[in-house]
Amino acid sequence: MISATPDELAERLDCDLGSARRILARFVSEGGADLAGMKKAVRKDVRARAEALDWSRPQVVDRVEDGLDKSVRYLFELSDGAVVEAVRIPLEKPGRFSVCLSSQVGCAMKCTFCATGKLGLTRHLTADEIVGTFLTVRDEAPGRVTGAVFMGQGEPLHNYDAVVRAAQTLARPCGGRVSAKAISISTVGLVPQLDRYAAERHPFRIVVSLTSAVPHRRNELLPMAGRWSLDELAAALRSLHAVQGRRQTLAWVLLGGVNDSLDEVEGIARHFGDLPLRINLIDVNSPDYRRSTDDERNAFFDALQALKAPVVRRYSVGAEQNSACGMLAAQARSLQIPENPPSTA
Ligand code: SF4
Repeated sequence: MISATPDELAERLDCDLGSARRILARFVSEGGADLAGMKKAVRKDVRARAEALDWSRPQVVDRVEDGLDKSVRYLFELSDGAVVEAVRIPLEKPGRFSVCLSSQVGCAMKCTFCATGKLGLTRHLTADEIVGTFLTVRDEAPGRVTGAVFMGQGEPLHNYDAVVRAAQTLARPCGGRVSAKAISISTVGLVPQLDRYAAERHPFRIVVSLTSAVPHRRNELLPMAGRWSLDELAAALRSLHAVQGRRQTLAWVLLGGVNDSLDEVEGIARHFGDLPLRINLIDVNSPDYRRSTDDERNAFFDALQALKAPVVRRYSVGAEQNSACGMLAAQARSLQIPENPPSTA
């Protein structure tokens, strides 16, 4: 029930909306296990019915802290035994964290530089499962979780309904209490879903993993995304920009000698040059590709300046423990951090 809306819960419990909101705040915002000690009373019969509902979360089976960047990689077991990761990411501001969430068990997109893509798709996560992983990571964080990114296992827009529902729950005052502006959803660029997302006017940031703006190369690197042309993708982003009014973020996994060339910059300019953009460069984490050399990366970075868009080099967290972008493949590892780190929230 942890992704239920207040309306849905009120109907399920046959209670007023205020009581439903207080119950959700208890179980979701505060992470409570029951309704004991609630400041504002909820009718006894409603309370009994609420406590009898399923508020369970996926079980943690492993936690590993990265020795270098202090990110923590969680492994969760779902009710059918499938396993997925979530990663607690320290933000620049001390005591603040973001959570990287999985949306599917495995992934159907087959991106050639990604460990998850090699797994294939087992199944979608439910919104309850996604929110449940978030809440557990949040409750164990030694500080405040102020952001969430759907960039773990899976293509989030392939599991559209559950991901949007989970994001809405995270942003709700009686839910995760994360600012909608601090929630990002990554996608390889599924055009029909992007069109729907724009039509539904959702506020969460979309990050399109473009990775190549040369059609034949993009088709090779992101085979499933290659079904739609770059012009179709650009049209979808124009619709999104019209709704959200913010820069559209393109993520670019830098593959040394593959997509760090000038024709890529020309491709971005040709197809997306009329859009206000932000470009995130990310070093690849794959045994099948080499990273760009400093010279290659710097030359690409300099060439991108012609687009007059902010270009940011993003550092993947968790590379030491295989939890960086493109490395999540549900491997169990030994526990290396305390089960319940002291909270300073
Ligand atoms: S990069 Fe994302 S969309 Fe592509 S295979 Fe990996 S998890 Fe799936």
